[in-house]
Amino acid sequence: MKTTQQVKRVKFAIIGAGSAGLTAWSEIKKQTDDYVLIDSGPLGTTCARVGCMPSKALIHIAEHYQAWQGAAALGIELPAQPILHDDQVLKRVRRFRDRFTSGLIANTTDKLSEQHFISGRAVVYPNGEIHVDDHVIVAERIIVAVGSKPIVPDGWSANLGDLALTSDTIFELETLPKRLAVIGLGVIGLELGQALAYLGVEVMGFDAQGQVGGLQDPFCNEFMLEHVAKTFPVQINQQVVPLRVQNQVKITYQGGEWLGDKVLLTLGRRPNSDWRSEALQNLTVDPVTLQLGDLPIFVAGDASGFHGILHEANREGKTAAQNAIHYPVLTGSKPLTPTAIVFSDPQLCRVGVSFNELDPREIIIGSFDLNCNNGRAIVMDQDYGRIRLYADRTSGRLLGGELAMPSAEHLGHLLAWSVQTGLTLNEMSAMPFYHPVLEEAVQNVIDTMLDEFNAEQGLTKN
Ligand SMILES: Cc1cc2nc3c(=O)[nH]c(=O)nc-3n(C[C@H](O)[C@H](O)[C@H](O)COP(=O)(O)OP(=O)(O)OC[C@H]3O[C@@H](n4cnc5c(N)ncnc54)[C@H](O)[C@@H]3O)c2cc1C
Repeated sequence: MKTTQQVKRVKFAIIGAGSAGLTAWSEIKKQTDDYVLIDSGPLGTTCARVGCMPSKALIHIAEHYQAWQGAAALGIELPAQPILHDDQVLKRVRRFRDRFTSGLIANTTDKLSEQHFISGRAVVYPNGEIHVDDHVIVAERIIVAVGSKPIVPDGWSANLGDLALTSDTIFELETLPKRLAVIGLGVIGLELGQALAYLGVEVMGFDAQGQVGGLQDPFCNEFMLEHVAKTFPVQINQQVVPLRVQNQVKITYQGGEWLGDKVLLTLGRRPNSDWRSEALQNLTVDPVTLQLGDLPIFVAGDASGFHGILHEANREGKTAAQNAIHYPVLTGSKPLTPTAIVFSDPQLCRVGVSFNELDPREIIIGSFDLNCNNGRAIVMDQDYGRIRLYADRTSGRLLGGELAMPSAEHLGHLLAWSVQTGLTLNEMSAMPFYHPVLEEAVQNVIDTMLDEFNAEQGLTKN
């Protein structure tokens, strides 16, 4: 133990004032005043500052601009082509960001006294010591919710300097680049790449593998790859290394060379680990209780490495707080049906059991191609997309599926709720489906799967 400093003793320490940490804090402060919240900054949460919210603000503007470009196809003649002021677009995104972060900070850390909030980077030791700059805090129980950061391979930033962007820096741009490469076409790369392409940036996408937006089912992924290539050129199965050449980025790939102004690195995110003292380096986090090894330390949110999405960060924050409060009695909160949404065009959604986990012998698979016939999609001029659903061959229960279609953010929720409540194909088929709506595409899949299920069971449809 450090001896020169004054030691502060508390029952609970929460490290990280992001979404998971603040959820944990709101649970802890209901129980006691004997806590400290520690954050290294910047405050305001990844979600509001550089994540969910600024990205969706940018996507919203891009979708509008794109829609106006297509007005002529609807028989609408605009008096002039819409003009995009990229500096104003980016200012608007930052205005939203500031609104979200300032409201959040005002209602949380700003309200805390020095006794309850410490600003600084924390390092945790197995004996409950937490070192924050010159402070030493000894906590009986610790919640670690320190988030994650974008993956940037060694040497890339040093070589590329300010030509390399990540989701941490892109929203700080004053103007949009003319030509931009996006390396990594997972969720964040796809969302931002498409939005920027719709805003007039000449985007070129690269991915080391052949999946986009985290899709696993080849039926949906194949469609999405083809569709994305209509919105910006994409090179898949290409392991590329961007290089700085004077003031430009150069990327050499099989079949060509790309030169442009900037590169957006969206290679995934890695849990922050600099909070771990050496003795904690190799300890693992229990996926149910979130306990680190057998210590009174609980790791929540992106820092746990399990989910990397907001609603799970909040759930884990609550679980970690409850387990810290009731330690050594530990529980896990009921797992939610996995639900992941991508705000691309068209939107993507994955719910329930994923394609890679399925045993094809035990499931019925249903598919639908949106260009086949869905009246609503046709009149919306969005009759492109695919649906794939999986049901248990024995019970007929819906297990999960993937959507690549307009409004997948809403349809995906209906499907996730159906999976979580254990609905069968029979029960889902008996639900109301209005006309004309996109949900009729789901109805079509459910009915086809139900026919197959009933035929196998020797039943007729109700
Ligand atoms: C571009 C982008 C778009 C996204 N879009 C979505 C979306 O649409 N939907 C969705 O569900 N999720 C989305 N996410 C993911 C979501 O934002 C994260 O899962 C969520 O914000 C994680 O919250 P957290 O509490 O774990 O971490 P954070 O909010 O990052 O909080 C971690 C906190 O810990 C502090 N900290 C770090 N290290 C230390 C230390 N050693 N000592 C003290 N403090 C420390 C940091 O300053 C920070 O305040 C997106 C992410 C990105 C980047």
